[in-house]
Amino acid sequence: MANSVANLVETRRDQIFPTFTAAQLARLHHFGQRTPLRAGEVLIEPGQRFGGIVVVLSGALEVVRPGIDGEGPVTVHRPGQFAGEISALRGAGAFVRVRVLESGEAIAIDHQGLQRLVQGDAELSELLMRAFILRRMGLINQEQGDVVLIGSGHSASTLRLRQFLGRNGFPYVSMDVDRDPDVAALLERFNVGIDEVPVILCRGETVLKNPSNEQLADCLRMNPEIDDAAVRDLIVIGAGPAGLAAAVYGASEGLDVLVLETTAPGGQAGTSSKIENYLGFPTGISGQALAGRALVQAQKFGADVSVAGTVVRLLCHRRPYRIELASGRVVHARTIVVATGAEYRPLAIANLSQFVGAGVYYAATYLEAQICKGEEVVVVGGGNSAGQAAVFLAGNCRRVNLLVRSSGLAASMSRYLIRRIEESPNITLRPFTEITALEGNGRLERVAWRTQGQGEAETRDIEHVFLMTGAVPNAKWLEGWVALDERGFVRTGSDLSAEDLAATRWPLARAPHLLETSRPGIFAVGDVRAGSIKRVAAAVGEGSAAVQFVHRALQE
Ligand SMILES: Cc1cc2nc3c(=O)[nH]c(=O)nc-3n(C[C@H](O)[C@H](O)[C@H](O)COP(=O)(O)OP(=O)(O)OC[C@H]3O[C@@H](n4cnc5c(N)ncnc54)[C@H](O)[C@@H]3O)c2cc1C
Repeated sequence: MANSVANLVETRRDQIFPTFTAAQLARLHHFGQRTPLRAGEVLIEPGQRFGGIVVVLSGALEVVRPGIDGEGPVTVHRPGQFAGEISALRGAGAFVRVRVLESGEAIAIDHQGLQRLVQGDAELSELLMRAFILRRMGLINQEQGDVVLIGSGHSASTLRLRQFLGRNGFPYVSMDVDRDPDVAALLERFNVGIDEVPVILCRGETVLKNPSNEQLADCLRMNPEIDDAAVRDLIVIGAGPAGLAAAVYGASEGLDVLVLETTAPGGQAGTSSKIENYLGFPTGISGQALAGRALVQAQKFGADVSVAGTVVRLLCHRRPYRIELASGRVVHARTIVVATGAEYRPLAIANLSQFVGAGVYYAATYLEAQICKGEEVVVVGGGNSAGQAAVFLAGNCRRVNLLVRSSGLAASMSRYLIRRIEESPNITLRPFTEITALEGNGRLERVAWRTQGQGEAETRDIEHVFLMTGAVPNAKWLEGWVALDERGFVRTGSDLSAEDLAATRWPLARAPHLLETSRPGIFAVGDVRAGSIKRVAAAVGEGSAAVQFVHRALQE
């Protein structure tokens, strides 16, 4: 990993640490204030919501990364260079300490100035955005810092926290009680028992024992400070491809947009190792990279994105609409885009839940692939997501058993994936086969499956099962508020019947717009919508199209 960071810095140094020309510096002056730099002064502390950038005119700034064993150097910014990272754009806590190394002068650009700059100056915006993204990649790859997760590869909570930090692109150090010899001493130093893992050591100050995602996000200041009293033009619920598209188009067209997301931007697509059929990416792109870019784009246009908060209730008796989160937080919006997507249907096996994260997984990303390296695994499902997972895991695992209920894959999977499965010698397709039992003590140890027409179930010592079966919509919380179909997906536009509209007392003379639910100004897009095509491109298309009708609803 150290090598890949060195390579990144070496090959892209000019992009990571650009030096502005005199003409560019003159333009930067319009967005900030000249400020003196005094040697030794600390300008930015980790965790501080600094929200801006500092451009060096004379003197120098040193950037260091505090860790549990002291500071590590990151870089030194000389005249013409700037200090700042993607968290500045987001209004979230910084990761590094920025200190004045040599006295001089700088242009300090605050959050509003930075927003105006990235939206108003195309050339400077490109330089800054590229540097922001590359700097974050460098920080993540370094695997250093003052946020340490101590956990176990066999614990579901550890996996949850790793997924949460990883999918939110948050740099942290991961230590495993079963593998890292230094863990015992570290736990002792922070007075934590080995039975209390997973724990997060947060900036050497706070110890969080098995925190919820929300507690962790608060401690790390992952979210910007948001004024919950404000009435937003548009609140987007869910930050998968559909929600992110609505945020990008809404914010870029001048709407005041807030996005609320349960876990991390990307949704289901964020759990895909490689999406190969999304227009414009002929060599494929990982779902997380796609989501990361879309997130930055939404933030560039000024959308606020808040993670680790689940919407549990929608009150639409009157406008503005009221949205309630599990934490008790309440926000208001004139219009809403519901983009909460879908998730895999769990198998009907009584003890399934005790193995989720401890041998049973609903995603096949780099993180999960590391856990089952060199081992035999099971993938359940006959759709594209199961096919992708099987092919991806085959590169890393000894054997992949692909279990499908039907006779084969032709009816449910893209041809290119079927071909790759056929060409992978370590993937065994098992048609007419279903899991009948999961066994283990604390973690999955054995799997039993039965193949139609072959009598007794077969039990194998397999410790990893990837479930990629049909999806159920994340729309239960909308029951009673907007019309749903018989499977729980949200009905929109011309799919709404007269009874649906009567049941929710549709108040307008006009019929619902395309993508509009049975409540005016509330739209549903992507996988959560009844009749949607379950594809990234379709979700992105619907998210962006909905914004056109949001404008109309705002004028009513
Ligand atoms: C492993 C995998 C591989 C795939 N590969 C491909 C592919 O190669 N090509 C392709 O076109 N499609 C692929 N798909 C399908 C594609 O990812 C989905 O169609 C797409 O992600 C749907 O986008 P969405 O925004 O509608 O919903 P989702 O992606 O499901 O996103 C919904 C978001 O809403 C959030 N949310 C849910 N409930 C709440 C709540 N109450 N409050 C706040 N937030 C909430 C969720 O956390 C989630 O982030 C794949 C799917 C999977 C799982």
